[in-house]
Amino acid sequence: VVFDSKRQFVAIGLYDPLSPIRMRALRTGKPGPIDRAFFADRIAQALVRRTPLLKTRTDGYRMIHGESDGMPGMVVDRYAETVVIKLYTHAWLPHLRDCIESLLDLHPTTRVVLRLSRGLKQHPEYLGGLTDGQIIYGKAITQTLTFYENGLKFEVDPVRGQKTGFFLDQRDNRARVELLSRGRRVLNAFSYNGGFSLAAARGGAVEVTSLDQSGHAIESSKRNFALNADIPTIAAARHLTIEGDAFRAMAELAKQGAQYDLVIIDPPAFAVRRSQIPEALSAYGRLAHLGVTLLAPGGNIVLASCSNPVSPEEFRQTMCDAAARAGRPLREIEKTGHALDHPLDFAESRYLKCLFAKA
Ligand code: SAH
Repeated sequence: VVFDSKRQFVAIGLYDPLSPIRMRALRTGKPGPIDRAFFADRIAQALVRRTPLLKTRTDGYRMIHGESDGMPGMVVDRYAETVVIKLYTHAWLPHLRDCIESLLDLHPTTRVVLRLSRGLKQHPEYLGGLTDGQIIYGKAITQTLTFYENGLKFEVDPVRGQKTGFFLDQRDNRARVELLSRGRRVLNAFSYNGGFSLAAARGGAVEVTSLDQSGHAIESSKRNFALNADIPTIAAARHLTIEGDAFRAMAELAKQGAQYDLVIIDPPAFAVRRSQIPEALSAYGRLAHLGVTLLAPGGNIVLASCSNPVSPEEFRQTMCDAAARAGRPLREIEKTGHALDHPLDFAESRYLKCLFAKA
């Protein structure tokens, strides 16, 4: 419990002596109990915020987005019948049972998988035997799990996959890409398991190239195309894959004179600390340069950044400068961010930036 210098109540929250974020505030301004009813109420409010998604064919989305849903240090993602809880602080462990039981009351589900942040895994002695990827409720996983995003079917591995298995935050941007794809040749750099590639293919792209350095990601993108082969536009699209470093592969494609009508570049975070901003901006600049070089005249480019310390303005300016230097100035169409299940309740939560442009 935090008091100010006049001994007035300020906040009550979770204390974590192992984390640089010592306290995660649960209630501010007015004191009140922290108990199962409190968590149940927070979870119920978070689920209500997501109800618009239930009208789409989407059963993979973020149910609880940490601080922005009043549950700092906890993320909960749903993949159809499987719920994945990812913890970023040990301080949640004493309350985990209350949270899971409240969640199951509100949203019956087949199983709950626990994922742990790097920080938690560094101190296994405080985990009470819990491990990353453990199924803490329900049935073991005996076959490949799948879920839907706007009617597209994806496989997911919530135990070993990146993040909790899928990049759910890009859902709306994938839907925008789908609308730009008809009759287009598309390059999807940093494609992971092909989220943007499938959206482009369903939108009528004639050819989609998925480029990623991870062989597992490329194989998964091929399986995801197969899973959606009943959709005529996806069956008709040619899916090509390149396994390799995106910087090198894009430079090589440019040397060969390859051209695309739509280029999507959604790399991993290049900066997690402020000191890494210059290096990150330089990498984004090189990617924008490569991207416009590969773009047929009048084509569309989609540039995304999930680097938290890089501001939207810095990102936009870097991209515009790099494209202009390549002789292909950007004409901005739209600047977008997170989907509605990743609410932004404070400035620091705004990590995803996405720029749609013509060049
Ligand atoms: N666009 C994806 C998410 C990208 S995550 C989506 O919509 O789901 C970042 C991806 O970049 C990962 O799959 C990772 O394997 C890949 N990656 C990281 N560094 C890379 C590099 N230098 N070249 C190519 N791929 C890279």
